[in-house]
Amino acid sequence: MFSIQILFYFFFFILGLVFGSFLNALEWRLHEKKSLNTRSECPKCHKVISWYDNIPVFSFLFLHAKCRHCHKKISWQYPMVELLLAFLFSFVFYYYSFVGYFSWLVIIRDCLAVFVLLFIFIYDTKYLEVSDIMTLGSASILFVFSLFLHVSWLSMVIGAMIGGGFFLLQFVVSKGKWIGGGDIRIGILMGVLLGWKLLLLALWLAYMIGGLISIILVLTKKKKMMTEVAFGTYLSLATFIAMFFGTQILDWYFRLVF
Ligand SMILES: [Zn+2]
Repeated sequence: MFSIQILFYFFFFILGLVFGSFLNALEWRLHEKKSLNTRSECPKCHKVISWYDNIPVFSFLFLHAKCRHCHKKISWQYPMVELLLAFLFSFVFYYYSFVGYFSWLVIIRDCLAVFVLLFIFIYDTKYLEVSDIMTLGSASILFVFSLFLHVSWLSMVIGAMIGGGFFLLQFVVSKGKWIGGGDIRIGILMGVLLGWKLLLLALWLAYMIGGLISIILVLTKKKKMMTEVAFGTYLSLATFIAMFFGTQILDWYFRLVF
C-alpha cells in the first residue's frame, strides 16, 4: 500500500511537469496567436526545439538556461511553472487521499481546475489580459464534469450569476475603468467551480490579498497608487484557496463569531 502511494505521487508529479510544459507553451501561443499544431520554437531565434531539448526542467538545467542555437537566455519562469504545477497536481492527489471521499473523477476535475487557475494567474500577471477561451471554455467543461459528480447545477448556475454579475455591475457602473471585461468571465468560472457560498469567500479573499499586496507595493515604492492591477492574479489565487481550504475557513470563522 505504502509503495503504491509513493508511485501515485511520482505519477502526479511527472504529470504536473508535462502539463506545466504544455501550460508554458499555451501561454505563449495564445498571446502570440500562434497555432497549437506547430512544433515548439525558441521565442528569440525561432528555431524549432527538438524533443530532447524540451523535457520539463531537465532540459533547462542541461542547457544551462540557454537556447542551443542562439545561446540567448531561457526564462527561469519555464521550469518554475513546471515545478509549481507538479507540486499542485501532487497536492490535489494528497488532498483527496486524506479528505475522506476519494474519487478519480474529482481528482481529474481539480487537476484541470488548478491548471486553468495557474494559467489565468500567469497570463494576467504577465500580459494584464484574460483569455476568453480559457475562462469560458474551461467553465463549460468544468460545469459538465461537475454534473457527473452530482454537484448541484443550481448552485453552480447561481454561483456563475453572482460571480459574473458582481463584476458586470462594476464594469457597467465604472464604464470599464475599475475592472476589465475579463474579470466578468473569471467571475463566471469561479461561480461554477465554487458554488455561491465559497464564491463569496473567494471574492472577499481576493480583495484582502489584493489590498495587502497593493499596500506592500506602494510602501516599498514598487508601484504608485492607482496603477493598473492584474486582478485576475488575485482572483485565481483566492479561488484556489477557497477550493481546498474554504470549508475549513468558513467553519473556523463561524465558530469564532457565533
Ligand atoms: Zn534560440
